[in-house]
Amino acid sequence: MNGLKYTIVQTPRGAKDILPKEAYLKSRLEQRAAAFVEEWGYARVYTPTFEFYDALAQGDGPVIADSLYRFVDREGETLALRPEMTIPIARMVATRYRPDEMPLRLYYIGSVFRYAEPQAGRHREFTQVGIELIGAKGPRADAEVAALAAGLLESLGLASFRLDLGHIGYFQGLVEAVSDSRAATEMKEALLSQDYVRYEAVVKESGLEADRQRALLALPTLRGGEDVLDAARSLAQGSPRALAAVDNLAAVYGLVKAYGLTDRVGIDLGITKDLDYYSGLLIEGYTPELGFTLGSGGRYDQLVSRYGQDFAATGFAFGVERAMLALDRQGWREPGQPPAEVLLIAGDEQQALLFELAARLRRRDVRIEVDVSGLALEEALAYARRKGIAKVVRIIGQDGDAPQVEAMLASGEPWPQGPDELLGA
Ligand code: AMP
Repeated sequence: MNGLKYTIVQTPRGAKDILPKEAYLKSRLEQRAAAFVEEWGYARVYTPTFEFYDALAQGDGPVIADSLYRFVDREGETLALRPEMTIPIARMVATRYRPDEMPLRLYYIGSVFRYAEPQAGRHREFTQVGIELIGAKGPRADAEVAALAAGLLESLGLASFRLDLGHIGYFQGLVEAVSDSRAATEMKEALLSQDYVRYEAVVKESGLEADRQRALLALPTLRGGEDVLDAARSLAQGSPRALAAVDNLAAVYGLVKAYGLTDRVGIDLGITKDLDYYSGLLIEGYTPELGFTLGSGGRYDQLVSRYGQDFAATGFAFGVERAMLALDRQGWREPGQPPAEVLLIAGDEQQALLFELAARLRRRDVRIEVDVSGLALEEALAYARRKGIAKVVRIIGQDGDAPQVEAMLASGEPWPQGPDELLGA
């Protein structure tokens, strides 16, 4: 394009411009989500876009480090762009709040940055909307986050989505007897990448006793409704940790039922996470339109303490771009930003009158566009038609303090009651 190098005219891979139509939809979704979580008592916070590298790595060393945009500032400090928001919020809460301020209900909307292989729904800069419930232990807090997650996805207007609940303690309990820690890591990785052939092979080579292997092999099938909990319990006999996980999940699910959400929320004990800060309940949200998660979260009781103060916590986040992609694929059409209702034009001598009239109409919430190109009437009408502006008003003179106007529809038809409608009352 026009002979300029691509680094001058293109955005980096995985980062994109958002033009008004899409931007309008994006901001509407964000506003809707914000209004929804505020009704549940969550308060908005902002954290810096970049942090000390060490602060982020403290949250989850290896996984995080792999995906970070890292740089050195002029003071020689190593900084990084935040790859998610839970870690910065954990740092913020540990350093800025006291125990007597708990529980805290916080939410955020912000850009995060990760080295990811770009494709539809996978960007290197994307926006997450999330909630964190901090300083609250126990199933009620987890159930609130799960219910809020379901409500949040619903508030976006998604026709179909599903939320699955799992528990990190189930898998951890089943593998804790594995003598080779690499085998447990390999199993987790295979589950994460849904490579069940490899998963089965690693389980069979793990040296675990037969019952434990049977439970691990069943893991990817332990999904569905409440009955999955009974199956999970009978498979986990002999692992107190896995059984405790099932009990905790059952307690949360009981509350989810009380919220009346069982048609939206199911159980999936095969959920695993690459981040190691999760410590309890796990949440994932899906829609059939996407090949990856729409949202995710869970309990992270040990994360905040890495920053100096110990608070239990649980949360959930979804990706706005993914929600937009899912909505688009569901055939949902949000009307774009409405055009101005009136285009005002005037000659050089009437500019002050024009500004005054425009201001007066805007105070009455009429959307006004003011011509800045010196359009003649015919040109103004053509422009209004092109932009979908219904009416054109031209200032032709002055009557005392009041402007004299000529008002017409964009079609060129007269709009006889126009001046009264605009200037009266
Ligand atoms: P995570 O923090 O990886 O659990 O992701 C939480 C949510 O953020 C996902 O469910 C997605 O909606 C969104 N997300 C994660 N990675 C990307 C990405 N590379 N591009 C767009 N959205 C993403």
